[in-house]
Amino acid sequence: MAAKANFETPAFRPYPVIPILKPGAMKGNGPFVAKPPMQEALGFPGELIDNWHDVAIEKMGELLKKYRSLRVYLDACVKCGACTDKCHYMIGTFDPKNMPVARQDLLRQVYRRYFTLAGKWFPKLVGAKDLTREVLDDWYNYFHQCSQCRRCSVFCPYGIDTADISMAAREILDSVGKGQKYCNEIIAKVYKIGNNLGLPEPALRDTLEGLEEDIKDETGVDVRLPVDEEGAEVLVITPSADFFAEPHIDGLIGYAKVFHQAGISWTLSSSASEAANFSMFIGSYENMRRVALRIREAAINLKVKRIIFGECGHAWRVAYSFLNTLVGPFDFLDQRYPIPQHICEFTYDLIQKGALKLDKSANDHRRVTFHDSCNVARASRMGDMPGGQFIIPREVIKASCNHFYDMPADTIHDQTYCCGGGGGLLTDDLMELRVKGALPRMEALKHVVDNYGVTHMAAICAICKTQFAKVLPYYGFEMDQIISVHQLVSDAIVLSVDEI
Ligand code: SF4
Ligand code: SF4
Repeated sequence: MAAKANFETPAFRPYPVIPILKPGAMKGNGPFVAKPPMQEALGFPGELIDNWHDVAIEKMGELLKKYRSLRVYLDACVKCGACTDKCHYMIGTFDPKNMPVARQDLLRQVYRRYFTLAGKWFPKLVGAKDLTREVLDDWYNYFHQCSQCRRCSVFCPYGIDTADISMAAREILDSVGKGQKYCNEIIAKVYKIGNNLGLPEPALRDTLEGLEEDIKDETGVDVRLPVDEEGAEVLVITPSADFFAEPHIDGLIGYAKVFHQAGISWTLSSSASEAANFSMFIGSYENMRRVALRIREAAINLKVKRIIFGECGHAWRVAYSFLNTLVGPFDFLDQRYPIPQHICEFTYDLIQKGALKLDKSANDHRRVTFHDSCNVARASRMGDMPGGQFIIPREVIKASCNHFYDMPADTIHDQTYCCGGGGGLLTDDLMELRVKGALPRMEALKHVVDNYGVTHMAAICAICKTQFAKVLPYYGFEMDQIISVHQLVSDAIVLSVDEI
């Protein structure tokens, strides 16, 4: 007979599965190396220099002096192991060097050897290692298997930030001429043409005109997508994927409809037609500043009063956390608004004021979940409330559709999993890593698909959207199950011809 009690007996827990590690599983899976012209455009040596060893150690010393945090992170780890199973790349590949602590150790062992007394005299005792070509190659491989998502640091009792260590490693690699093709090529395109995709101004104008015609055909309303319009109130800085890629473009249409209904003039800029700032991924402050400077110049030239960022995760981190110190002060903008502001904050404010007409039933064919993007979730905020970066996008979604379901609690908010393509890894030469790294998010998505019939996952990051469109089919989903948050707004907003 079962015993009775006035308390709840805990349920049996599933037997934990201890993963079998696969040493070297992802060794040699580094991305393509940048060619000399790409490197030189950013001020780095074209290819691996002869005295790379000495230059790398010197650069490490320079970074240790410049960033006190880096030295603290390298000194503070007590090998408690709390981070070991928290990285999506570790979960997806079982390569032990994808454990955050092991990834950090690749740099830490060299730091100890050259910058600590114990490491100089008793290297074996303290796990210190010489910087050899093999170690350098490991840096290249495994620091390009970190999307700098910062999930591991949430679980570290000392708050050690592996993303910062990964940025420092990539900065050292660039300084000796071993940069990554994808990131460095993109940054060079931003300098030359204004955006990541190399989309020239005439093509941008054509695209925007085409979108205006599409909206007119769909709604009968003249909704504008202006570019370089001097004197507009708002400058919108958005990822260039918004101009042509699916599902991003439907988000851009959503922004345009929101501005239209709010009656607020806005413009894009042909010279700053890109929100992304990949310089953060390579840890290059100088390049990050140079990329950000285009935004300041565009705002001054166009005489706008506000700057609003579109749906882009890491761009929002750069904007929220660094824009003012990188290229401020923005004393020429209207100080009554956040500088800068996120498009979700903007839309949320209008919803709160009752300034948008939204018909939620227009999205009744969708059951929606939301993917928190890492750089928004763990490296920035929205609004003036704690956790605004989690609350505001969800409130925008809930104001636009009737069926919303969150994924499991340990996979959202500050514990969100990376899409698998962040941090400059969204390149086809890293496809295996991207698919494997997406596993935890795909499992969480499957949970809400199976339990609540979820049909779509919304996101506010261009990298996440592109990554999911590519990897969803690998896990048996459809590529169009990923959508922009402002696509939901776009479909729900009720425009009337009287607003023209
Ligand atoms: S920052 Fe993200 S990708 Fe990098 S080690 Fe930590 S959990 Fe993994
Ligand atoms: S959780 Fe922090 S202290 Fe513990 S092993 Fe990982 S990095 Fe080191």
